[in-house]
Amino acid sequence: MKHHVKKIKYQTKKFIDFIDITEDAATFAKENNITNGFLTVFINHTTAAIRINEREKGITKDFELFAKQLVPSDKYYQHNDLTIRTENLVCEPGASDCLNAHSHILHLLMGGTSEHTPIIEGKLALGTFQRIFLIELDCARPRIVTFQIIGE
Ligand code: ZN
Repeated sequence: MKHHVKKIKYQTKKFIDFIDITEDAATFAKENNITNGFLTVFINHTTAAIRINEREKGITKDFELFAKQLVPSDKYYQHNDLTIRTENLVCEPGASDCLNAHSHILHLLMGGTSEHTPIIEGKLALGTFQRIFLIELDCARPRIVTFQIIGE
């Protein structure tokens, strides 16, 4: 049984930026000669998500509009109220502001910390239309994604 880890830094460009990282995941599995096993794609941020879905511009735009309607950024949130907030008052590097309650709420609703994909006969067992995305839920900033493979 082999175990490999790789971290890749991505620069997102905007709120609801879908970055297709499927090829990076597939290349990682291939370069480590994993025939059968599991790939985990994990993000250690609370305002960006890893999700598997279809790569199609309509879906991306639909999701952006849905997210804005569901969790508007201009509503009152306690996380954004610096007159009462006392915890975690440190912005991530590259962040333009910390007032991002809507981003945290979207992340919580999406359950978007990681995705897991079987590797079967050397290939990611993704469906025809399935792609692995890093989805920015906040403003543009650098994001680190961890890829971990366990297999043989
Ligand atoms: Zn925050």
